[in-house]
Amino acid sequence: MEDIFKNTQVAFALKSDTELERAYFLFKMIANEPLVRIGTAVTNFALKAHLPVEGLIRATVFDHFCGGVNEQDCLKVVDKMFTKGVSSVLDFSVEGKEEEEQFEAATSMIIKTITFGKEKEAIPFAVFKPTGVGRFILFEKISAAETLTDGEQKEWNRVEARFDLICKAAYDADVSLLIDAEESWMQKAADDLVLKMMRKYNHVKAIVFNTLQMYRWDRYEYLKVIREIANDEGFYIGIKLVRGAYLEKENKRALKHNYRSPICKSKEETDENFNTTAAYLFENRENIAAFFGTHNEQSCLLLVALMKQKAISANDSSVWFGQLYGMSDNISYNLAEQGYNVAKYLPFGPVKDVMPYLIRRAEENTSVAGQTSRELQLINQERERRKR
Ligand SMILES: Cc1cc2nc3c(=O)[nH]c(=O)nc-3n(C[C@H](O)[C@H](O)[C@H](O)COP(=O)(O)OP(=O)(O)OC[C@H]3O[C@@H](n4cnc5c(N)ncnc54)[C@H](O)[C@@H]3O)c2cc1C
Repeated sequence: MEDIFKNTQVAFALKSDTELERAYFLFKMIANEPLVRIGTAVTNFALKAHLPVEGLIRATVFDHFCGGVNEQDCLKVVDKMFTKGVSSVLDFSVEGKEEEEQFEAATSMIIKTITFGKEKEAIPFAVFKPTGVGRFILFEKISAAETLTDGEQKEWNRVEARFDLICKAAYDADVSLLIDAEESWMQKAADDLVLKMMRKYNHVKAIVFNTLQMYRWDRYEYLKVIREIANDEGFYIGIKLVRGAYLEKENKRALKHNYRSPICKSKEETDENFNTTAAYLFENRENIAAFFGTHNEQSCLLLVALMKQKAISANDSSVWFGQLYGMSDNISYNLAEQGYNVAKYLPFGPVKDVMPYLIRRAEENTSVAGQTSRELQLINQERERRKR
């Protein structure tokens, strides 16, 4: 198993030579930090000034990391990936909205992606971000046990209603639903709401999945608590396990407000926390389904080894691996080739609206040590192989 992630022929089988060259060029650019900074500023300015840059963005970074501007647009990519056994999670990646109208529109769009999943085997999951359907500040206030004004309480009731509408749609369509985790200071309100939804919709199987960020040292304990509740009340738990995406922000805020950071002291501690929790998820498989969102090869190898050790078959419907579209194809396609369940997050939305997502991907690939060089090295290896 050790070397399967180095098989670039399988990893890039769906990429034409031109697409491979584009990916090479893109990751070369992204590796250059000043270029990413300048590029981000120029692109933001150009979009605000309504300069005709959308075509350029689409032809480069957008098409590499996104499925399209709308859900229909994504179907070509969905079908293509599925020919190699890789499924899709349509991710409406419009972020940072603050108005009721926008939350209502996002709710309708998420339900649309669920309906798509009902009709297509290649789309087994839907996904949404809690703050995509309600204001961040509301989640934050509730998490801090602050009293809401009457107006805010009514607003929160609407957020709850949206959660319920989305989860019910997933339940009716029999499509599993991943709910992303965000900053720790808004997460308690989201956790409580997701638990409520699990109680309501997970009595036959895990439809609703919460996300645990294992860079937080308190999440393993939290999992044990909700498992007790699920055992007592007789419902299933769905867990998406990730390391966590807001590390710097979390540590900075904790320092600023002088409280203990919710983040593990080191990367090694996070890794250990991730591994221990993964083992716990497998041990309690009778009522827990797991989706592992990671680009870490070692983690994936460990998960595969654990599955073998516990005699869990590769295609067991309660275990999934997930990566982001445009990244770590060597993991996704090689795992799928070996018969494991793999689904890639496929972001979509109008070019202007998914810019924050694209900028994060560019910055992450600049800052995460090793990530870009690994992508570049693999792409290069495949270019060389094809030349031969
Ligand atoms: C399908 C999918 C879904 C995702 N959904 C979410 C989500 O809902 N919410 C969310 O927050 N993130 C989400 N992520 C992002 C994820 O949390 C990670 O940021 C990202 O995947 C990198 O972690 P890794 O396991 O892939 O790789 P690695 O490169 O092994 O790990 C990097 C991660 O380790 C942790 N880390 C790094 N340095 C330190 C340190 N000094 N101390 C402690 N910890 C450290 C950080 O979490 C960092 O992101 C998702 C990722 C994927 C692939």
